[in-house]
Amino acid sequence: MIDILDVHIHTTASVHAYSTFSECIAAAKAKGLELIGIADHAPSVPGSIHPFYFMNFKVIPRDAYGIKIAMGSELNIIDYSGSTDLPAKILKRLDYGIASLHKECIEIGSVAENTAAIIGAMRNPHVVIIGHPDNPRFPADLDAIARAAKDNGVLLEVNNSSYFYKHRAGSADNAKIMLTACKKYGTKIIIGSDAHIDLDVGRHEDAQKILAENNFPAELVVNSSVEKFFECVKYRKSLAP
Ligand SMILES: [Zn+2]
Ligand SMILES: [Zn+2]
Repeated sequence: MIDILDVHIHTTASVHAYSTFSECIAAAKAKGLELIGIADHAPSVPGSIHPFYFMNFKVIPRDAYGIKIAMGSELNIIDYSGSTDLPAKILKRLDYGIASLHKECIEIGSVAENTAAIIGAMRNPHVVIIGHPDNPRFPADLDAIARAAKDNGVLLEVNNSSYFYKHRAGSADNAKIMLTACKKYGTKIIIGSDAHIDLDVGRHEDAQKILAENNFPAELVVNSSVEKFFECVKYRKSLAP
């Protein structure tokens, strides 16, 4: 499988992650990636960085380190209508957003509530990816989510850390349900490492194995091409008022 990008990376700006921006860039280059995306946690995660961090991305050259760089954030979905935790004036400065449900930031709802939260987040044009939607801790209607993702041009993440560290137990089983629905609707997916240390940057093998086991079509995996990823970003941003 051609896989040359990883846009779900946490640096020390996430506080519970352990490698710097520079260390993550070096790791991505060593792995042969063409694009790295830094997506540190937005402020609702305990101990996370002040929102001002996200205001200064203009100083980061996107093409000067011998690898393409995108600067985003992993936003927290904070209610069942899909609101996230950075204001529009900051979201505009991000290259992309990942929206995720984290138990530290929202009560675990019913299937209907969790599903509404995820689909609601897709209304935000700065949200390009839904992070770890197959997390069984937040049971949701993955068929409805895959259909809504297709309708809205949003990518669903196949999150390697969920399977490698097993800290979202049962994700691999749920991934099968999600991938079956994605195949049915033609929904695009993206593999993310969710690295919290440089050693995990570009670690996608467990996710790739799950895609292979489910005969997932390569044309629906955007990791094969930087252009494919930025096409999705451009489309989502085009929906912003
Ligand atoms: Zn984290
Ligand atoms: Zn997450």
